[in-house]
Amino acid sequence: MDTLNILRKYLGDKLEYRKDLSSYLTMKMKTMAEYYFEPESIDDWMKALKVIDKFNIPYHVIGGGSNIAVMSDLIEGVVLKNSLRLFKIEHEADNYVDVTIGSGNPMSQIVTETIKRGWSGFEYQRGLPGTMGGAIYMNSKWTDPLSYVGDSLLIGTIIDREGEVRIESRDYFSFSYDYSKLQDTKEVFLHGVFRLMKHDVYELEQRAKQVQNYRHETQPHGVATGGCFFQNISEKEQKKYNLPSRSAGYLIDEVGLKGVRIGSFQISNKHANFIENVGNGNASDLTKLVNKIESKVLKKYKVRLKFEVRVI
Ligand SMILES: Cc1cc2nc3c(=O)[nH]c(=O)nc-3n(C[C@H](O)[C@H](O)[C@H](O)COP(=O)(O)OP(=O)(O)OC[C@H]3O[C@@H](n4cnc5c(N)ncnc54)[C@H](O)[C@@H]3O)c2cc1C
Repeated sequence: MDTLNILRKYLGDKLEYRKDLSSYLTMKMKTMAEYYFEPESIDDWMKALKVIDKFNIPYHVIGGGSNIAVMSDLIEGVVLKNSLRLFKIEHEADNYVDVTIGSGNPMSQIVTETIKRGWSGFEYQRGLPGTMGGAIYMNSKWTDPLSYVGDSLLIGTIIDREGEVRIESRDYFSFSYDYSKLQDTKEVFLHGVFRLMKHDVYELEQRAKQVQNYRHETQPHGVATGGCFFQNISEKEQKKYNLPSRSAGYLIDEVGLKGVRIGSFQISNKHANFIENVGNGNASDLTKLVNKIESKVLKKYKVRLKFEVRVI
């Protein structure tokens, strides 16, 4: 039996073949998934990972697609677009509430809902695109004041590559800056219980507004982009090469690339670490632009930039 028929046998008609992915990625690049499946429940996830493991089929997990750049016209194997949604109060005390939140819930919805209910924990994530699952995988954050999505997690339910489900406490995830253990284990975050502190709604709203205003002033908005493309350089590198800033955007700006465009991909005029898709950008144009950034920064500063986005 060929791969398509194997997948159809286990996953049914929800399995799609040669699916255009541009609308699932905030960069909107033209690319296709060879096979596409949207798990909406734990059962869907178990079925999918079990057949993938049994027949050794390549796969990629996506959430809101806001931290992913695809550098090829076709993604081989199965793209699993997580759509597992949950929102349930587990326990309520005088000053806090424990809530189960699904990994497929959009962060925008979680931020709005928790502020409205007077629950503190996610208010600084106003404007963070994507899903809870992607945010836990990346331990996404707001830096001023520093607030990580993983901060309020009590326990998380995950599924491993063989399709086995387990519950782990917060410590397991080893959260740090832009890091959770899931990046090494490749386990999928299914849902988690978060402890959110009760707080004045007006004040939560003010915090969120402050973040939103700052984003509007400093980042491109209303355009197709994948967020910061490269990681800022380390303190060690900054010292070694005697550079005035650790910001990747600063280095890209200083080599004169702000506003430079190849095909439909353009380095943002607002923030040089953002790449915008101003038309119908394809993988080959993005690859050319990324190569250009890497080689110019390497030539002038001797620094090898590393990706912040996940590249497929
Ligand atoms: C305009 C803009 C602003 C941004 N601002 C910020 C910011 O302020 N702070 C910040 O930290 N980031 C920011 N980002 C980056 C990005 O939005 C975050 O990293 C986001 O949390 C990614 O979530 P996602 O669901 O879109 O993940 P995706 O992009 O879909 O996936 C990212 C990675 O997570 C993995 N993944 C997704 N879901 C799961 C899951 N359930 N279990 C395991 N792995 C999973 C994927 O395999 C992939 O490797 C920004 C991006 C954009 C476009």
